[in-house]
Amino acid sequence: MSEEERRPTWSFHPYAWQHTVWQRLVDLAESGQLPHALLISGHAGIGKERLASAFAARLLCQAPSPQGGCGSCKSCNLLNAGVHPDLMWLAPETDAKTEKTAKFIKVDQVRELVGFAEKSAQLGGYRVVIITPAHLLNVQAANALLKTLEEPGSRTLILLVSSQPLSLPATIRSRCQQLALDIPAEKEALAWLQPQLRDEATARLLLALSDGAPLAALQLRDALWFGERERLLRDLGNLGEGKATALSVAQRWQGLGAEAVLPALASLTADVAVVASGATVVKHQDLTPIITAVARRVSPAAVLGFRQGLIEKQRLLAGNVQGAALLDAVFSEWARMSR
Ligand SMILES: [Zn+2]
Repeated sequence: MSEEERRPTWSFHPYAWQHTVWQRLVDLAESGQLPHALLISGHAGIGKERLASAFAARLLCQAPSPQGGCGSCKSCNLLNAGVHPDLMWLAPETDAKTEKTAKFIKVDQVRELVGFAEKSAQLGGYRVVIITPAHLLNVQAANALLKTLEEPGSRTLILLVSSQPLSLPATIRSRCQQLALDIPAEKEALAWLQPQLRDEATARLLLALSDGAPLAALQLRDALWFGERERLLRDLGNLGEGKATALSVAQRWQGLGAEAVLPALASLTADVAVVASGATVVKHQDLTPIITAVARRVSPAAVLGFRQGLIEKQRLLAGNVQGAALLDAVFSEWARMSR
């Protein structure tokens, strides 16, 4: 089963905060100035895939409006059913049995794309390829893509989506027109986020913790560690005051798992570093008193070193090092540096 067949419904419109960039894309399409390949980049969680999906729908739609695809013509129905013959969605494959998602987009997938781009459109209009996240193309896959990026068939658009565009080979980037999306204005982000949450304070907090990226903020609400921030921070304080041992704290957090605890520590200790350096504006505003108490016991340099270590440990975790051992190591290090 291909990736597009697994997508249950399609997004026919961009997010409200994408209005300006959407208009630019529509103008390019209407004036016949669309490039062959477009690299849509920007912070994770600002809706880049949504923009690509909506624009693909509009290009393929048989009755498009300035706002997007109509949602009901033959083309839009095929998109909704996940079986549009002129659309190809390229992402790391998920194994149907193990449900594990591959770390990269592989060369075989790109070879399929090359075949797709050589054919003519079955519905007589555009053909669109969406590659996301494009920085996960492995080296062979990226090389296999180069020629098609340079000379795709006529009326073919390749949309590459990436939050790490600089990780893409320069040879790929130079063959794409670049479209860098900004973080939405806070007002626009809140207008979308707040109705989905209990209150404005939570919306602002989540948004601050997500660098202003609305989709990331909503994801964070559901992240395992979000509700555990205070307990985790208190444990850092307890380690410093000798009220708990690194071993007992590490054991307590095994249940949540290193996958959740390491990013939580990265987020919390960013604020600890801020306060330890003498500044006062933190992101976890609701936890300011505890952050301040924890920060009193550590030097700014030590926290920075600790945070460097967290990045390394997250890399090790991705490479299959045991999470339990990593948790032991981080809490031992925190205990050492804060006593
Ligand atoms: Zn339509």
